[in-house]
Order: sequence, then structure tokens, then C-alpha cells
Amino acid sequence: ETFQDVNMGEIIMGNIELSRYDRPTPVQKHAIPIIISKRDLMACAQTGSGKTAAFLLPILSQIYAEGPGEALKNAKAQDSSKYGRRKQYPIALVLAPTRELAVQIYDESRKFAYRSKVRPSVVYGGADIGQQIRDLERGCHLLVATPGRLVDMIERGKVGLDYCKYLVLDEADRMLDMGFEPQIRRIVEQDAMPPKDVRQTLMFSATFPKEIQILARDFLDEYIFLAV
Ligand code: AMP
Repeated sequence: ETFQDVNMGEIIMGNIELSRYDRPTPVQKHAIPIIISKRDLMACAQTGSGKTAAFLLPILSQIYAEGPGEALKNAKAQDSSKYGRRKQYPIALVLAPTRELAVQIYDESRKFAYRSKVRPSVVYGGADIGQQIRDLERGCHLLVATPGRLVDMIERGKVGLDYCKYLVLDEADRMLDMGFEPQIRRIVEQDAMPPKDVRQTLMFSATFPKEIQILARDFLDEYIFLAV
């Protein structure tokens, strides 16, 4: 059981070594091959299980393999006609319940994206939106966001989800507990978001109550269920 069991490309594999992750945790061992095989996933995993790397590593490696520049060419062409050059079209979107978790995911994504040309950004509520917009405008392939602030960014025309191929809902049960379901549905069910048979969707949750099962039914396409 090593990270070498699945080849995620030289740069990502090098960054795993740099971060001194010697062996995959159980959720990483099981989730990474499922995500690489492009299946949707509903994973029940606790904080501390290593779930962040379990979704970041295969997503970053897929974006890198496809070439972040290529993926954004279409987006850029559309961008300049409609909104000037400032709207960002992330290829991957990670929704998280709190600023703390969003920043943790972002920090981990920066570590793993090192030297890959894949650019992560983070936006969250309760902080200066102007600074976050300026940071976004420098380019964003992978966006980590809390739901309310992302709705705000979309309404301001700063973020478009038209090219979002990878969608992650992290700590989905906590997001529902915090009352984010309307914002989450506005984000995921908007016309711009590629439909579920086009994008790849991953949901992580510590628990699997009725409300999460409904969200999984609505957002995931023939998904694999993983409990660790
Ligand atoms: P998470 O559950 O994603 O919040 O991760 C919990 C902590 O475990 C974080 O500090 C990670 O950096 C660390 N971690 C995750 N995966 C590994 C691994 N394979 N080896 C060592 N540490 C890890």
C-alpha cells in the first residue's frame, strides 16, 4: 500500500513525497482509484481521516494531465466577449462549510499543486471580498469556497461554473446543519453548471442521514458508496 499504486503523474507524485505522506490512509487508498476511474463517489469519512488529500490528489492530477491551459482556452474566449477578462471559470470547485475548513483545503491544494501550473484560490464569507476578487483575477483552476460567498461571487459576475468538471461537497452534513442547502442548490442546480452526467461529483460526509441521501440522489450520477 503506497501512493505509487496509482500513478498520478510525476509532479503530483513528487509533491506527495515533499509533503512526507508516506502511505495512503484508508480513505485515500479506496477513494483515489475510484476518482481516477472517473466515477462519482459518496464517501463517509471523518475529519482527520485524510479525506482532503483523497479528493485533491486525483482531481489535481486529472487537471494537470488534461493541461490547465488547454481547459481554459474556451473559457477565456467566452470570457472576453461577455465580461471583459475578469471572470474566472474554475475547472474544479470544492464547497466547504466554514472558513477554517476552506483555508485548510486551500493550503493542502497549494502544497499538492506546487510546480503543476494548476492555480488554486479560496473564497469565504466574513472577510474583505475585494481582496478575494483581486486574488481570483490572477487566475483560478481550482476554487475552494464556502457556499454563501460563492453565490455572491457568481452574482457579481466574478465566477462562472460553465467549465466546472469536478465538484466536491466536503463535510456535506455540516453544510446542511449550518443551513446552506438553498445556497448549495443554487450553485449546483444553476444552468451554467454542467449536468451530473457530464461533471464528476464527489460528496464527503461524516454521517449519512436522509437529507444527505437525498442530496446524493440529486447531485451524483451512478455513484459508488464508500464507508471507512
Ligand atoms: P484531513 O482528514 O484531510 O483533514 O487530514 C488530517 C491530517 O492528516 C492533515 O493534517 C493531513 O495533512 C494529514 N494527512 C492526510 N493524509 C496523510 C497521509 N497519507 N500521511 C500523513 N499525513 C496525512
